[in-house]
Amino acid sequence: MAFDLDMIKGVYARMEERINAARQVVGRPLTQAEKILYSHLWEGTATTPYERGKAYVDFAPDRVAMQDATAQMALLQFMQAGRPQVAVPSTVHCDHLIQAEVGAEKDLEIAKNRNKEVYDFLASVSNKYGIGFWKPGAGIIHQVVLENYAFPGGMMIGTDSHTPNAGGLGMIAIGVGGADASDVMSGLAWELKMPRLIGVKLTGKLSGWTSAKDVILWVAGQLTVKGGTGYVVEYFGEGAESMSCTGKGTICNMGAEIGATTSLFTYDDKMADYLRSTERADIADAADEVRTHLRADEEVYENPEEYYDQVIHLDLSTLEPHINGPFTPDLAWPLSKFAQAVRENNWPERLEVGLIGSCTNSSYEDMTRAASVAGQASKKNIKAKAEFTITPGSEMVRFTAERDGILDTFEKIGGVVLANACGPCIGQWARHMDDPSRKNSIITSFNRNFAKRNDGNISTHAFVASPEIVTAFAIAGDLTFNPMKDSLTNEDGQNVMLDEPKGIELPIQGFEVEDAGYQSPAEDGSQVQVAVDPDSDRLQLLDPFKEWEGTDLLGLKLLIKAKGKCTTDHISMAGPWLKYRGHLDNISNNMLIGAINYFNDKSNSVKNQLSGEYGEVPATQRIYKAEGIGTVVVGDENYGEGSSREHAAMEPRHLGVRAILVKSFARIHETNLKKQGMLALTFASPSDYEKVLEDDTIDIKGLTSFAPGSPLTVVLHHADGTTEDILVNHTYNAQQIEWFKAGSALNIIRRSVGA
Ligand code: SF4
Repeated sequence: MAFDLDMIKGVYARMEERINAARQVVGRPLTQAEKILYSHLWEGTATTPYERGKAYVDFAPDRVAMQDATAQMALLQFMQAGRPQVAVPSTVHCDHLIQAEVGAEKDLEIAKNRNKEVYDFLASVSNKYGIGFWKPGAGIIHQVVLENYAFPGGMMIGTDSHTPNAGGLGMIAIGVGGADASDVMSGLAWELKMPRLIGVKLTGKLSGWTSAKDVILWVAGQLTVKGGTGYVVEYFGEGAESMSCTGKGTICNMGAEIGATTSLFTYDDKMADYLRSTERADIADAADEVRTHLRADEEVYENPEEYYDQVIHLDLSTLEPHINGPFTPDLAWPLSKFAQAVRENNWPERLEVGLIGSCTNSSYEDMTRAASVAGQASKKNIKAKAEFTITPGSEMVRFTAERDGILDTFEKIGGVVLANACGPCIGQWARHMDDPSRKNSIITSFNRNFAKRNDGNISTHAFVASPEIVTAFAIAGDLTFNPMKDSLTNEDGQNVMLDEPKGIELPIQGFEVEDAGYQSPAEDGSQVQVAVDPDSDRLQLLDPFKEWEGTDLLGLKLLIKAKGKCTTDHISMAGPWLKYRGHLDNISNNMLIGAINYFNDKSNSVKNQLSGEYGEVPATQRIYKAEGIGTVVVGDENYGEGSSREHAAMEPRHLGVRAILVKSFARIHETNLKKQGMLALTFASPSDYEKVLEDDTIDIKGLTSFAPGSPLTVVLHHADGTTEDILVNHTYNAQQIEWFKAGSALNIIRRSVGA
């Protein structure tokens, strides 16, 4: 599991030159995020300034991390590149597929059986291509990354939206789709729009019941779930320096809830302490030597309003504990106002379950603070009124917490320790409930609380708070309880108060673990066989997409003219389809089933031009495919918005759609289409969308002289025998045109490595 010290030293060695060059081209002092971004340019040293919020920039991340659900397609695609090894250090973490039901041991055993083929596949690909593999039960991706791989000043992408957790160690860590991960592992650049910047200046010090979690719960209330979109959030100030490294991780983790690209903290002594206690003193020493590069230039801290697009000030000494929810993480309630909000909104006052842990809040400090509350309940003879579960973020934390009697303290008040996995945080929770649709309240120390997120019940009111507040509430079993002022009646009939929690930042005896759950890859993986059962319905090896045939595309049929919003979820739905994310042919049966057909206002109903009959979109497309007829999908504005889900681009490509022609694209989806070798075109005149008719046969001309900036021509052959020529634009650069010609971006890599 060893981190790559040479790689990290290499990053530090080039920082000075690159940061100086960036400062010069930008012409002003730099923030911390800018220093990291400019020192990770794909081109090397900066020669031009990149405008925030506008310029698209190619980066060279240092690492890739993948969780088991998204890793499947990322790795299947990576295998297409034909490389013998991954181009950058990468890891796979088995955390999302374990369902919580009775407790860690049993649940883990069931998951290993249920997901055996997926785990075997991930393990064998990892072994073959030099990827570190963290087995089921080893822990949750973000906690394991923080403990082992994150480093100050580094840049990482991860196939999970809470990847920014590593910002707690001063890293730029960004959540991406599987195609991006596959590109970076294959040795391609990674593109990102230069983010805008929000500075958060923290003064004062946390105390009493208030913890790092309350900082982000408060910030979420200020910025809302959209306020961080397109921004990197940089935290700094004496308040930041007084906060533990793992507390910083919690804040960065939940930056995803305000839509931020990522969040990060200035490198400081707390981070160095954490690195040393997790056996990475070498990294702390190396980081200490380049400390000035791991923070913004001093002018920025002196006058933040001049350098950030937005600045927020927060005095930690005045911050109250917060409880956010229900149904959205930005509905922020200070503890003192929460009971009233519960009563006024008629939310169920009885608290049924308190859940602590997850990737957001399962540090040693979190566990000790929660245990200090739980321990009081035992001592003061109070019985916990709600169910109480604990999800450790990693085996290392779990083992250490068990050794130090922390888990025992939880179990004494009825706590159930779940597997080191996502479990109830991602709906992998077989909750025991008399009526699974009953209106009820739960509180978690997780990050997300959208309807149905935890238990699939739309009537579950989920609130989010710190682990110590969750523990206190679970003991009280009452959402109107305020541990700072209310007493509880114990088993002896006495009124007792809970004292303020006391935590231990890092274990006094150090961290300990017997088997962390890590499996190193083979030194030489060339002989390793990748395990995929040809009869599997969850996994399927990919075949490379076919090269362009070298001619214009003639005689294509219109598959669907989608009307209005068509997000990646309309193109490739989630929900029950998620289990097929490793099987392109099976998941393609959801292709465009959510899109509304312009001609009949129905979803999943299009005309088959060969028979004149209406059928489901994927089935109709498969008929065209069987006949060797290519098709075109026409769409409206901002086609493909929503997520970076690569399946939305791969499915049409797999089923034989040749072009997507729309009024405008969401940028990420457009790039994904290009990477898969698909034609992504826009109407030069958006009103030409109206000219496309249901029975059209379509030609795409100009491909033999396909060049950047020059439009193509689409010929619409209408059923009445008339034709119309329309001009269509594209944004392909020279390299992307090569992707199209080769059949996909990965086919180019494949060629270059001679596979
Ligand atoms: Fe995502 Fe929850 Fe797992 Fe964290 S614990 S990685 S938020 S599912």
